[in-house]
Amino acid sequence: MTLIEQYSSCGLNNVSNAIRLEAGVQWSEVYLWLSKFNLVAIGGASGTVSAVGGYLQGGGHGPLSRWKGLAVDQVLEYDVITADGQRQTVNACQNRDLFWALSGGGGGTYAIVLSAVASNETRYEKLIESFVEILPTVADAGWSGYFDIVDMTLRVLFHVPNGDWAALNATLNQFGASNIDLDFTITNSFVVPSFYYYFALMLEPNNPTGYNLLVSSRLIPESIIRSKPSQVAKAFVQAKGQSTTGSNLRGSFVAGGQVSNTTNRNNSVNPGWRTALLQMICMQSWLDTISKAEQEYLATQVLLRGEMLDTVLP
Ligand SMILES: Cc1cc2nc3c(=O)[nH]c(=O)nc-3n(C[C@H](O)[C@H](O)[C@H](O)COP(=O)(O)OP(=O)(O)OC[C@H]3O[C@@H](n4cnc5c(N)ncnc54)[C@H](O)[C@@H]3O)c2cc1C
Repeated sequence: MTLIEQYSSCGLNNVSNAIRLEAGVQWSEVYLWLSKFNLVAIGGASGTVSAVGGYLQGGGHGPLSRWKGLAVDQVLEYDVITADGQRQTVNACQNRDLFWALSGGGGGTYAIVLSAVASNETRYEKLIESFVEILPTVADAGWSGYFDIVDMTLRVLFHVPNGDWAALNATLNQFGASNIDLDFTITNSFVVPSFYYYFALMLEPNNPTGYNLLVSSRLIPESIIRSKPSQVAKAFVQAKGQSTTGSNLRGSFVAGGQVSNTTNRNNSVNPGWRTALLQMICMQSWLDTISKAEQEYLATQVLLRGEMLDTVLP
């Protein structure tokens, strides 16, 4: 059993905490091992059933499958030996027909599975999903702000001019209630005397200029955030930043509200702003010392992360 902190393959980048399970491992062993990392897997109810054998290849239902789908829905890759004796990597890009067949078609039928890699982002994804779910409430209450999705963290800075404290606390409580296993007993909310005070204290220090940054961005429509929060959260988690590589996914919660009001506003601004709630920015910093090839690689990555956000766009 191996924890892969950042899994990248087959167009998927930055999948956090994927797990590789070798053939022969049983669910009781997997659950115990994952509990040390405060993680769970979508597995069976019986501890003695083998994780990647007949269980997985048959689909695999379990106590958490109504929450995240079947065990096989979490699989990113198999390492197999086919009947001709060839060792093959099987995923949605390589040997796609075998990937489809192994994922539910039954054990002992298509190949000998040596190991399988499964996505295990459940807890973090749930956090991001409940965050996306409160955005409409927050928007209706007149808030704006910025947030960063990096590694396994979510940093949020909200502000509301002349705000309603009761509404603020109710929303924070709702968010806390959706994440009772996280500690939200200390919330940091305060009143500042002026916009300039807030800008100087909170915004300016967090928006440095004068360094190399590659960006790609997408405007995310408010209707999509309201109607498909879990797909939006999935895309955000996929496109999130990685501190080790200097990337970030910045959410600018600066649209909606009066930005959507087009009355008597006839101008050339991108019409996407009028229906958006968020501008999501994939950021990638780079150093002058890296080679041209490395710069080009980072540029490709930042564009790919932007394309991951396209999956939720109409
Ligand atoms: C007590 C009990 C509880 C169960 N609970 C659940 C449950 O909660 N959810 C659920 O979905 N199912 C459950 N099942 C059903 C279980 O998923 C199936 O019986 C499954 O086939 C068991 O797979 P295994 O690899 O452990 O068993 P095995 O009998 O060893 O294998 C079953 C088949 O898969 C093949 N196979 C095994 N390993 C591999 C491999 N590495 N590569 C290719 N083929 C392989 C074997 O050749 C055989 O044909 C349960 C079964 C039992 C007995």
